[in-house]
Amino acid sequence: MKIVMTGSRRAWIEDAPDPTPEGEWVVVRATAVPICGSDMHGYYAEGAHTGGHEAVGEVVAVDSAHRLRVGDRVLVHPASGCGQCWLCRRGDYIHCRAMPAGSGPHFAQYIRKQEWLCPRLPDDVEDDLASLMGCGLSPAYQALTRLGVNAFSTVLITGLGPVGLGAVALASFLGARVWAVDTVAWRRQRAERLGAEAALDPNQTDVLGFVRDHTCGEGVPAAIDASGHPEAERLCIDALRALGKVAFIGENQGDIAYSPSRDGIRRGIEIIAAWHQNLNAFADLITFLRRFPQASDLISHTFGLADVDEAFRVFASREAAKVVLHPWA
Ligand SMILES: [Zn+2]
Ligand SMILES: [Zn+2]
Repeated sequence: MKIVMTGSRRAWIEDAPDPTPEGEWVVVRATAVPICGSDMHGYYAEGAHTGGHEAVGEVVAVDSAHRLRVGDRVLVHPASGCGQCWLCRRGDYIHCRAMPAGSGPHFAQYIRKQEWLCPRLPDDVEDDLASLMGCGLSPAYQALTRLGVNAFSTVLITGLGPVGLGAVALASFLGARVWAVDTVAWRRQRAERLGAEAALDPNQTDVLGFVRDHTCGEGVPAAIDASGHPEAERLCIDALRALGKVAFIGENQGDIAYSPSRDGIRRGIEIIAAWHQNLNAFADLITFLRRFPQASDLISHTFGLADVDEAFRVFASREAAKVVLHPWA
């Protein structure tokens, strides 16, 4: 089969052995594989790296799997899980401490995966759209659910890459008023198409002043940072009203300032963070894809494997939403 390799700001195709099914591990022929922001680490790094952790495809080979049959269309979750621990049992397998090896890269024509991490897709949700249920929607879904966002909420969302745009779309679907923030004009325009009431450039607008002017000086009840930038994360904390909640869903391996007294005790704010979805989010995300027609605007480009270098270049330009690879095109 063909797989995608990345490194030194290039992406290219190499040959690799086809995976084989074994026990609960099935083989999925990938039809839609999105690029994630976290895949860009391998793209910018020296050397040659495999990658990818989102996908939709069709089951083409099973061993002793009993939930799936050849021909089933499925969503392919990232990583793997032991299936036995309390985290796996409650659907939060992404935090499993005993992940078995064997889940290969998703930037490939075939993906090997445990059958319980491949939920069957309904016929009326097509492949590219369904592939958004990876990083395009799942961190944002978990954040919005835990923040308690609804039609009474105003949400500040900083960072409008694919994860932040997913948050804008889901918050709009929930009826919330959304204020979106990014320095890239293309992304701000896309956020407005997805339902943002205001899309602000922090280099042009005093975002904190805007928030206070439009909330009688109180601040917002909920904020989400999807940028991973320390200034944006701190802005989200500062923009909260008393008892407000912020969710971090953009990776930042560093530190930011937080005062347990000034931010926590005296203002009563809550900080949460979210990675991937609980497995039980699947039904809600299908509902969103069926009932929010603008969801297709979360995908800006699709590319066949022959054009994979161009696909990564477009994604790296930041003038893109989700970029989806078609491994057999
Ligand atoms: Zn586990
Ligand atoms: Zn991801």
